[in-house]
Amino acid sequence: MMAMALSPWLKAQSNTGESFIDEHLRPYYEHAGFSWKTDREPHFELNFEVNSEAERRLTQLKEVAELGRTAVLKVLGATSYDPVIHVFFVGSIARMNELIGAEVIGRSRPTQHAVFCVVAPFSELSLAHELTHEIAANLWGPGEHWLQEGLANYVVDNNSSLMNRQCLGLLQSKQWIPLKLMVNPEWKSSIYSPDDTYPELGGFVQYLYETFGVEYLQIAWTKGSRNLKKVYGKKLSKLESDWRAALVKRVGPVHDQINLPGRGDSLLQEEISHEHRINP
Ligand SMILES: [Zn+2]
Repeated sequence: MMAMALSPWLKAQSNTGESFIDEHLRPYYEHAGFSWKTDREPHFELNFEVNSEAERRLTQLKEVAELGRTAVLKVLGATSYDPVIHVFFVGSIARMNELIGAEVIGRSRPTQHAVFCVVAPFSELSLAHELTHEIAANLWGPGEHWLQEGLANYVVDNNSSLMNRQCLGLLQSKQWIPLKLMVNPEWKSSIYSPDDTYPELGGFVQYLYETFGVEYLQIAWTKGSRNLKKVYGKKLSKLESDWRAALVKRVGPVHDQINLPGRGDSLLQEEISHEHRINP
């Protein structure tokens, strides 16, 4: 099994004439502060340090990487993705900063096919999120940040209702950020708290994806937010209100069942009543 797993990778390497260490990757692989062990898989080179959390969890990480890659390709409607992705696992945000000069839990550099993730006990794993950036950027080209982040969060949410519940929570607590503040070419993830913006953008992308399909999402990706009305035939404000209505309808009944206490309830009921329909 091991040999079978390795041979396609070796073949890909020789076909593309890629040298063992790409020039762009050299600063990471040869960084004086890091001593990497590498696990080579058909789709990934997974780099980790000896005695690290990543080494202990390598089997799980491999699975997350593979499942994440598959999920992204499925969402994008793509059948294949050739580049081998170089993943670097570090033990902390401080170590991440040492390696790439940014205090983040995850980062992707799609032109280098490089992905960086903090793997520490109890830390959130950003691997699937970063793989979405890597693959979408290489298959669809550069996209506006709101759409990149929205897509990554949609893929990671994987149709669990968690993200939609978070969106509904933002609506109920009146922390909803109007989409026009994010859905524009200038928005950067640092402007607001990612805790608020990421679920909202992810939920919006999910709505666009499920309502209009992947082809339109790809066109929106290419044309940008200024052309949303051309792509979807509706202004952003109309897309937003349609989505909010769909959200309340979709998530509402689930919240009813678990009977969440607090002020959200009355508001939720109010919103549901607008959407109430008698089934034919
Ligand atoms: Zn991201």
